Amino acid sequence: MKYPEVRNYLAGSFVKGEHEYLDVYNPSDGSVISKVPLSSRDDVDRAVQVAQAAFPAWSSLPIKERVQVFYKYRTLLERDIEELTALVTEENGKVYAEAKAEVLKAIELTEFACSLPQITAGEVLEVSRGVECRIEKFPLGVVASIAPFNFPNMVPHWTIPNAIALGNCMILKPSELVPLSSNRIAELLKEAGLPEGVFQVVHGGKDVVEAICDHSGIEAVSFVGSTKIAKLVYRRGTANLKRVLALGGAKNHLIVMPDADPEMASSNIVASMSGCAGQRCMAASVMVAVSNTDHIINRMIEHAKTVVPGKNLGPVISAESRKRIEGFIAEAEEKGAKILIDGRNPNVPGKEGGYWVGPTIIDYVTPDMRIAQEEVFGPVLVIIRSKNVDDALAIENANPYGNAASVFTESGATARYVMERAQAGMVGVNVGVPVPREPFSFGGWNESRFGVGDITGRGSIEFWTQSKKMTTKWNREHGTNWMS
Ligand code: NAD
Repeated sequence: MKYPEVRNYLAGSFVKGEHEYLDVYNPSDGSVISKVPLSSRDDVDRAVQVAQAAFPAWSSLPIKERVQVFYKYRTLLERDIEELTALVTEENGKVYAEAKAEVLKAIELTEFACSLPQITAGEVLEVSRGVECRIEKFPLGVVASIAPFNFPNMVPHWTIPNAIALGNCMILKPSELVPLSSNRIAELLKEAGLPEGVFQVVHGGKDVVEAICDHSGIEAVSFVGSTKIAKLVYRRGTANLKRVLALGGAKNHLIVMPDADPEMASSNIVASMSGCAGQRCMAASVMVAVSNTDHIINRMIEHAKTVVPGKNLGPVISAESRKRIEGFIAEAEEKGAKILIDGRNPNVPGKEGGYWVGPTIIDYVTPDMRIAQEEVFGPVLVIIRSKNVDDALAIENANPYGNAASVFTESGATARYVMERAQAGMVGVNVGVPVPREPFSFGGWNESRFGVGDITGRGSIEFWTQSKKMTTKWNREHGTNWMS
C-alpha cells in the first residue's frame, strides 16, 4: 500500500482503534492504496465529547482571533498545493488540472472565512426611547459535516472554514472512498494553530452517519451526497431535533437555442459533461436542443473527440460505478436512442485496471427513458430534442432535481425568460457549470437540497449560527414604558 492505513483524528492526534477496514483504491489503475476504518457509534461519541470540551474556549475567542488560524491555514494550502493535488488524483482519479482546481477552490473558500469578521457584525437600533435592541450571532456548539467522494478536498472546505471560524467545533465524516485528503486537512489545520479538539475526523460509512444523526451532543449536520442518502440524513437528523442541511444529487439540463454561439456552446457543454469524468453535481447531463441545433451538436462531437481517457479525462470512482454508467448507455441504445460518440471500453494503455468511461453523447433520447430521468454521474450527455423554449423548459422543469440549469443563446430576452422559469437553484447563461463563487452561496432546489439556506458563502452564516436578540436600557431618565 502506498499510504499507511487511515486513522481517525481525535483531539489533535491520529488514533488507532479496533475496527474493520475497507480497501481504498486508486481508480486509475485499481490498485489498493490504503485502508479506511469503519468506525462505530462509540468513535462518534468520543469525538463529540472531545469537541464539547473544546467548545467553550474556542467559541469565546473573538471572531477576529479565530480567523487568524485560517489566514495561516490558507498559506499552508498554497505551500502544499502540489501534494494536496496529488492526493486528490490518487484517491479520486481526477486529472492534475482538475485536482488542482479543487484545491484552489478550497483556498477561495478559506479566504471567504477570513472575511467573516467583516460581514457578521450584528445589528443595533434604538427601538424605544433609551431602549436598544441588538442582534448578535452565536455558534451552535458541536456540528458535523458529511462529505461525498467526488471532491475529497473542496467539499470539506465548503463547511470547515466557515463553521469553525464562526465558533463551532466540527466532526468531519469523509467518504470512505476518499479518506486521505481529509486527514491531510486535519494536519494542516493543526499546523495553522487550530486548538486540539476543535476539529475531528471520524472515518467510516453508514454507521457513522447514523450515529451523527442520532447523537444528542451534535447540534447541526450538513450533508453532501446523493438524494437517496440526503433524504435519510435529513429525516433522521431533524427527527432528532437537529438543524440539517442536506444537499443531494442532480440532473442538470442545458437548454441550447439555435442562435447560440456554436463554439462557446459546444466547447462549454463538452467541458461540463466530461469534466471530473462527469462526477460533478453541476455537470451537464441533459442537453435540451431547441429546434435545429445540429451545427452545434456536430461541433460538440469534434470537441468530445479531444477528451481522451487517461490523458485529459480521469476514470470514474469504482468498477461498480462504471458498470452502472454502461448499463444506462446500453438501455438507452436498446430503447432506440442514437449514440453519437460511445465511451464504453476505452483503451488506456498501461492503466487497464482503471475504471474508465470515455465521453459519451447520445441523441434522440426521450424524457421517459431512465437515462433522461436518473442521475448517471459519468461523462455522459443525452440530447432531448424540443420544439421551442417553452417545450424545453417543460422538459427541464419536469425533472425532480433542481441543482443547476443553463441556457445557451445570444438573445438577452430568451436568457432572462429561461433564468426566471428554470426550476433550479443555480442558473447560468452561456455557462456550462454555473457554480456561484464566494461570496455567493451554493445550493440547489427541489430534490437537490433538503433544509433551508445554502451551504457556502453568505448563506452559510445563518446555518452555522444562532442569533441572540438583546434588549438593554441604561438611560435612567426615560423611566418606564410598556417595555419595562
Ligand atoms: P453518497 O450519498 O453515496 O455518499 C455520501 C455520504 O453518505 C458518504 O460520506 C457516505 O459514506 C454516506 N453514506 C452512503 N450510504 C449511506 C447510507 N446508506 N446511510 C448513511 N450514510 C451513507 O454520495 P457519493 O456517491 O459519495 O457522492 C456522489 C453524489 O453526491 C451524487 O449524487 C452527487 O450529485 C452528489 N453531490 C451533490 C452535491 C451538491 O452540492 N448537491 C455536491 C457533490 C456531490
